[in-house]
Amino acid sequence: MFNLILFGPPGAGKGTQSEKLLAKYSLVHISTGDLLRAERNAGTELGNKANEFISRGELVPDEVVIGMVRNFMKERSDKAGFIFDGFPRTIPQAQALDQLLTEFNAQINCVLGLEVDEDELVKRLLLRGETSGRVDDQNEDTIRNRFQEYQNKTLPIQEHYSSQNKYHGVEGVGEIDDIFASLCSHIDKLI
Ligand code: AMP
Repeated sequence: MFNLILFGPPGAGKGTQSEKLLAKYSLVHISTGDLLRAERNAGTELGNKANEFISRGELVPDEVVIGMVRNFMKERSDKAGFIFDGFPRTIPQAQALDQLLTEFNAQINCVLGLEVDEDELVKRLLLRGETSGRVDDQNEDTIRNRFQEYQNKTLPIQEHYSSQNKYHGVEGVGEIDDIFASLCSHIDKLI
């Protein structure tokens, strides 16, 4: 198995780059944001609970997200690997993922972090909010809250994987195809 984490703050381009990576590599995309929104749209209990956190720009509790990822992966255990997009977002999530992968005799092979400064991110998210219909992209206070959560809870993951020599930062501003080429150059060394 080859397992990649696409890391970076909200609006860094993880979704856009995931789509391009999926077209090139035979990996399965797992976006916890997409899975949570699908639950919300289906009106499930989990989705309704998660929506309270999402609409405030807060992280959904770890146990909810970890359980969802575990189910998703177990149903796809025969696949060549995963691209994790928006997961893990806390140290307990990263530890749970490392543990879960050992059950597949696998590990995280590479963590690629898209680096974009905050002013550019706010601009991108507000622009996305005009068309995405995502309420959490439309309000600057909610967006700033999401950055706060990222700084406090998600950024420490970078160190978690740096200490395992798995983290590589990639410039996330510029042409989409150039950013994609940088990501591929890291992956192609390992795959
Ligand atoms: P995203 O689509 O990745 O930007 O996620 C949108 C929102 O879903 C986040 O602001 C969180 O409220 C929630 N969310 C997505 N992934 C996670 C996660 N791994 N842990 C906790 N909350 C998450």
